[in-house]
Amino acid sequence: MKRRTFCEMTLLAGAAASLPLGRVISAPSQSSQTEAADLRAVKLSGAETMIERAAVRDFRASLRGTLFSPGQQGYDAARRIWNGMIDRHPALIARCADVADVVRAVTFARERELLLAVRGGGHSFPGYSMCDGGLVIDLSSMNSVRLQAVTQTAHVGGGAWVVNVDAATQKEGLATTLGQISNTGVGGLTLGGGFGWLSRRFGLACDNLVSAQIVTADGKIRRVSEKDAPDLFWAIRGGGGNFGVATSFEYRLHPLPPDVLAGHIDYPASQFKDAIEFYADLITKAPRELSVDLSLARAADGQPGAAIYVLYTGDSKAGSKVLEPVQRFGKPVKNTIGPKTYLAVQSQFDGPPVDPSNNYIKGGFVREYSAGLIEVLARDFRPDDRISAFFQSANGAVADVPQTATAFSHRNAIANMMLLGHWDDASYNEQGRAMLRANWDKVAAFTDGYYVNLNDADPKGTDHNYGPNFPRLAALKRQFDPLNLFRLNANIKPA
Ligand SMILES: Cc1cc2nc3c(=O)[nH]c(=O)nc-3n(C[C@H](O)[C@H](O)[C@H](O)COP(=O)(O)OP(=O)(O)OC[C@H]3O[C@@H](n4cnc5c(N)ncnc54)[C@H](O)[C@@H]3O)c2cc1C
Repeated sequence: MKRRTFCEMTLLAGAAASLPLGRVISAPSQSSQTEAADLRAVKLSGAETMIERAAVRDFRASLRGTLFSPGQQGYDAARRIWNGMIDRHPALIARCADVADVVRAVTFARERELLLAVRGGGHSFPGYSMCDGGLVIDLSSMNSVRLQAVTQTAHVGGGAWVVNVDAATQKEGLATTLGQISNTGVGGLTLGGGFGWLSRRFGLACDNLVSAQIVTADGKIRRVSEKDAPDLFWAIRGGGGNFGVATSFEYRLHPLPPDVLAGHIDYPASQFKDAIEFYADLITKAPRELSVDLSLARAADGQPGAAIYVLYTGDSKAGSKVLEPVQRFGKPVKNTIGPKTYLAVQSQFDGPPVDPSNNYIKGGFVREYSAGLIEVLARDFRPDDRISAFFQSANGAVADVPQTATAFSHRNAIANMMLLGHWDDASYNEQGRAMLRANWDKVAAFTDGYYVNLNDADPKGTDHNYGPNFPRLAALKRQFDPLNLFRLNANIKPA
């Protein structure tokens, strides 16, 4: 079985790179789609319900986009999301073409109290963007990117992928923080926070939001920004998909010339612990132009290996100097650091947009690389074909924003630590999840909260994860979504 690190997995999102902006997703003609009978569906309460054939017909006719139902052409492709482990069968998938379609779909779900999932890029590890028996609002066709040179902002459709934004902004020598995998959706990523190569320098994706357009549970279209609906604007910057469907985002852009210094240096098992220690020291001192991540994965020789990934986005001369200690450290088995384009870095591991393999993750924020954590990693963590670890840096400009200024509360972390499980054989799913959790138990004590964009439901509830922001979030949830229509996410129950 092929070993995959976090970065390689991100690459799987990459087929997006070859797709043109505003890609067209083929869909059957609506006139050829008719319901043979009433549809069995699931309500928010979990109870079964029937949706009358005529209601489905009228709903379909009201949409500019496409409505998929079981058995119809395109339904199976439409219900596939990135993680091969997720195999769900919704009653209906509304691939919306515009905000009016989203309003109709939200209204259809609310009036019937149907279980509702919202799909941006479909990259949720636990599969929050797909459901069994409910309605899925699929934003994949709403992926346009429009730059405004004067304000240096980009208006981006709620279903766009990272690659859509990167490709458009880099043409103008601009960029904003987005994830490290090019076909990850910007929707889920931004609403939950959004770490990437640029977050040490420019803050999280959500910190770069200037405004957004949201369809709330009451079916209203709202513009949210510091001036308009500031409470909602606060809530969507870290509160995940709890508050409505984000149909578009406006991001602040930053000058970023296309040429950067980047690559990775790989160390053998004999330097596993040394490399972790070196990385831990480096990340506390690195200038903000330098992003450094650490991967612990099985190396080509079958032994545990450590790899330090870097991207320097400042002046290249200064970058070479900053990277000198990295270049000098240890006896690496591979060193790929050199000039690259930012787009190449963002898409370096691109692969198919849906992964046939099964993926499971546990992650948590680390405030410091204590001797205890390094000891446990070096002694007890043995990456193999099915498990690897990745440390995504979470400091720098992320910490410039006060903890209660946005819903995202993890402002004092140094890294987002992740254990990643990946295997081909679905019959291994249960065992694989148990194996990963057992490994997680060894390091969990060193974490403080987790990233809502990664984990599955927390048995302790999500409250503690939003830190001091939870009471305000729960009150806003009651105000804007008393039914908890938007519940397939790191859910905040209405206060
Ligand atoms: C391979 C891989 C690499 C990753 N790399 C990074 C990374 O570098 N940095 C990082 O921060 N995270 C990363 N992530 C995590 C990523 O942020 C989440 O998976 C995120 O949910 C992806 O967004 P999406 O739109 O594709 O998700 P989806 O699966 O579509 O949705 C996830 C959640 O967000 C909600 N949602 C999505 N779009 C909208 C919208 N427009 N309006 C309202 N709700 C919406 C959904 O309802 C669901 O609850 C990675 C994940 C994977 C699988």
